[in-house]
Amino acid sequence: MKKIETIPSQSKALNLKAVGDLVYEDIAMKELTEGTVLLKVKACGICSSDIERVYQNGTYHFPTVIGHEFSGQVIAVYDDENENLLGKKAAVFPLLPCMECDACKEEKYALCSNYNYFGSRCDGGFSEYLVVPVWNLVFFDQISYEEAALCEPAAVGLHASKKANIKSGDDVLIIGTGTIGFLIGIFCKNMGANVYMAGRRKESLELAEHYGFIPVMNDETIKDNLKNASGKEFIDTVFEVVGSNESINTALSLAMKKIILVGNPKEDVLLDKQNYWRILRKELDVIGTWNSDYGSTKNDWYDVLNMIEKKEIELKDFITKVYALEEYQEAFDLVKSNTLTLKVMMKMDGGNESE
Ligand SMILES: [Zn+2]
Ligand SMILES: [Zn+2]
Repeated sequence: MKKIETIPSQSKALNLKAVGDLVYEDIAMKELTEGTVLLKVKACGICSSDIERVYQNGTYHFPTVIGHEFSGQVIAVYDDENENLLGKKAAVFPLLPCMECDACKEEKYALCSNYNYFGSRCDGGFSEYLVVPVWNLVFFDQISYEEAALCEPAAVGLHASKKANIKSGDDVLIIGTGTIGFLIGIFCKNMGANVYMAGRRKESLELAEHYGFIPVMNDETIKDNLKNASGKEFIDTVFEVVGSNESINTALSLAMKKIILVGNPKEDVLLDKQNYWRILRKELDVIGTWNSDYGSTKNDWYDVLNMIEKKEIELKDFITKVYALEEYQEAFDLVKSNTLTLKVMMKMDGGNESE
């Protein structure tokens, strides 16, 4: 093992012990093994799925350190031949695939049938230190740790956006104003689309305008609202990023050519007969999207980092607020509250490491 700083025997972490029982405490450091490095975690974002984990669904087993949107610095390596990685900054692809199933052999790791996952199935990024396989590291240099921690949701947003095969001048409607909805909007706009965003809250629609999207109030008169905003009754490409029965039906009723399903279902989905007819008569493409690509040729993570580093997309103002790890309760309360947030993040050294 080679290292560039002293490694303590314990790491401060947010450990989920039971539903509703998130504890900030010292946990034992894990040993490095072949092919791994010790990452000093610098920033980790709170995902809406973390809120569900902590307050509703729990993790696969307890206790689990949560957090899957993180970045940090390599401070120790197990293998001597990885010495060149010491000191490097990296974001982390949080999925640990089996590498043996059919999906893995095709490099479709998000579809792995026997995977592990940082922050839900094994200890994750809300921790000062974490042992991570070299394979999962996505190195960067020019951006801040906070921006790099946005790579995970951004890769998911980019992956969904690519599914739409957008050409310059295309009209795109996004139903849903969460983090992923906004990220999809940013990528689609970057690909040259006119982006409409449907949401229920005034603040969300104001933010949509701030990002250059055309706001559409999502209420009983959404059809008229869309027509007023676009002059059109249907939009070629519709992204559904909510996952509710109602929203999926709305998406089907407004799509002309294709609908990209992004939102995780909150309930059983029942399609109106009318909307089912629309799939047939309009020959709608119904496209599903899941997680992100992390293959050697198709890789949303490298693409996202490249775009951020080249300033083709600007995600800095996407970070609503940054907290120190020990202020986790405040941070989680903010995400849970009704306040509009895009990404709330925690910095492990609480300080001013960002550049
Ligand atoms: Zn997430
Ligand atoms: Zn697999």
